[in-house]
Amino acid sequence: MTNLSPQLRQATPVVAVRGEGAYLHGEDGRRYLDFTAGIGVTSTGHCHPKVVAAAQEQVGTLIHGQYTTVMHKPLQRLTAKLGEVLPEGLDSLFFNNSGSEAVESALRLARQATGRPNVLVCHGGFHGRTVAAASMTTSGTRFRSGFSPLMSGAIVTPFPTAYRYGWDEETATRFALKELDYVLQTISSPDDTAAIIVEPVLGEGGYVPATEGFLQGLRERADRHGFLLILDEVQTGVGRTGRFWGHDHFGVRPDILITAKGLASGFPLSGIAASEELMAKAWPGSQGGTYGANAVACAAAAATLDVVREENLVANADAMGARLRSGLEDVAAKTPAIGDVRGLGLMLASEFVTEDGEPDPATAGRVQRAAVDEGLLLLLCGAWNHVVRMIPALVVDEAAIDEGLRAWSAAVSAGTS
Ligand code: PMP
Repeated sequence: MTNLSPQLRQATPVVAVRGEGAYLHGEDGRRYLDFTAGIGVTSTGHCHPKVVAAAQEQVGTLIHGQYTTVMHKPLQRLTAKLGEVLPEGLDSLFFNNSGSEAVESALRLARQATGRPNVLVCHGGFHGRTVAAASMTTSGTRFRSGFSPLMSGAIVTPFPTAYRYGWDEETATRFALKELDYVLQTISSPDDTAAIIVEPVLGEGGYVPATEGFLQGLRERADRHGFLLILDEVQTGVGRTGRFWGHDHFGVRPDILITAKGLASGFPLSGIAASEELMAKAWPGSQGGTYGANAVACAAAAATLDVVREENLVANADAMGARLRSGLEDVAAKTPAIGDVRGLGLMLASEFVTEDGEPDPATAGRVQRAAVDEGLLLLLCGAWNHVVRMIPALVVDEAAIDEGLRAWSAAVSAGTS
């Protein structure tokens, strides 16, 4: 009998037969509140009628208009619509399928544009599983082990993770920037540094928001030394954090912005945005791919952007995020095993720790499994898989948030008793 590879450890035993909004229906006849959203992908909820209609219409019109061969209408539509939400000046786009591929596109562009070899990566960052993206990933050895030698030239510099060290954000920020200056003086000189890449909120690394001082410090150093600031908004983009882009919280503009996940509500689509001047420095024909900017995915993405605007989903993510956060903080206040609640918008997490304040993956795992029994689907993250995260669809409403919090409270009791 054929089966899936045993290394693929599915987080829940659910066999999903149907999705609707913030819910998944299982083969077992149960309805599950889905606070995983396909790892932050189904931004408009499962099977939003407008996204479904756009995709269905496109399937009957043109499925694959290969974009290095022909231009197609959904790609034109999507490019124009992204122009309404992208930061000013980032007006040139290139599309791939996955986050990892877009990360590699950004790296390729940065190296070609600057003629410099190295990329600085922030400790705890996740950028994907292909060789270059895995080389830039430092959120857990599980993403790197057994895959070496990885790409050379990815050099690690700290991210301001205040909670882990018992610091305040200011101290964490000062430390991270001082270390960055040290790295630029001791490991990768500015002349060898093409770019620094960072997530506005560490995703797989444990849902740690960056600080304004840190991102502004990166911008300042990038400008001073002539390297590029790449923001990986694969997880934080398209309204997830209660602003359209995660970096909108920090007032820092990237040179290259990477988007994927929530962009197409579940269809595989990713992209990078940069100024035309910068994008023109990519060597002709060096970027491409058979399936990039697939016509059905582009139609779904254009519909996703319409739905996000028409249904005010960014504001909804902000409001529902505040409601969820407040409930999570109430549970944490009664639960010594939850050391920290953090995140932005609808990208929130609870960190589980032992009595000594050390990462506690065993308890986090028990709580995550107990939540499935309560009808709530959750994922883990963090270096030790000790952080339980919540990333519901942006269409989630008050009733669903409250239902999720009731299930969370019960799961935390079951998992910590
Ligand atoms: N960057 C970030 C910030 C991510 O969260 C992810 C996926 N979790 C990726 C890149 C890689 O995306 P993909 O799995 O689509 O290759």
